[in-house]
Amino acid sequence: MTPPVKKNSALFLDIDGTLLDMARTPDAVIVPAELRLALVRLYDVLDGALAFVSGRSLTSIDRLFAPLRTAAIGCHGAEVRGTDGTIRALADPIPDPVRAIFRGLAESHPGTILEDKIYALALHYRLAPEAKLALAAAVDRLEGLFAAEKVAIQHGKSVIDVKPLGIDKGVGVRTLMRQTPFRDRPPIFGGDDTTDLDVFHILPELGGHGFSVGRAFKGVDYKFPSPRAVRQWLTRLAERGVAA
Ligand SMILES: [Mg+2]
Repeated sequence: MTPPVKKNSALFLDIDGTLLDMARTPDAVIVPAELRLALVRLYDVLDGALAFVSGRSLTSIDRLFAPLRTAAIGCHGAEVRGTDGTIRALADPIPDPVRAIFRGLAESHPGTILEDKIYALALHYRLAPEAKLALAAAVDRLEGLFAAEKVAIQHGKSVIDVKPLGIDKGVGVRTLMRQTPFRDRPPIFGGDDTTDLDVFHILPELGGHGFSVGRAFKGVDYKFPSPRAVRQWLTRLAERGVAA
């Protein structure tokens, strides 16, 4: 069973771990040509109601999928771009004291990579898995400071994400769902990580469906074993068309 995408659906897609296989670093991911082609076709079929929902910045998303430029939710919901290209920042940039702390953590743990996305930070430790516990402990100790600076910490797959308090992917999806061409369309959302739960939770009230990748999430109706399986499904949809 695959998610029920119809001509009047709105398709929201997480990128890393959902559409693309995880790589050693965020810049090392590969976007297969057939995926890009499938997305271009689906964007057309859905009259533009296709959006990426990512922890990546909008700049990074555009670089991956160029020349395709869709509506998108970047930095876990802090940046939202509508189908008309208008960008809204739903939060302030990450405060400098928090940025300085994470720079320090990255410097003191060789092999970690700090990705500064202005509205969010991501400290990747995929190449330094031994740093995981020390980083988690350091971040825990600073809980009070993060609360005072109004940022939230989230632990993902080999990454510690820092985002503005009160901002999440669900907030981003709600924002786009108020805009044309998303409004009044049942959303279909796919994600693979803890940061995607904020979208899965709001799907029932929006009349939508979710699919997870690689693992099951409570209340999520559909599941794909891998990003590759998601890509094959999207290619089939693009080639055979979606139901009316
Ligand atoms: Mg993901």
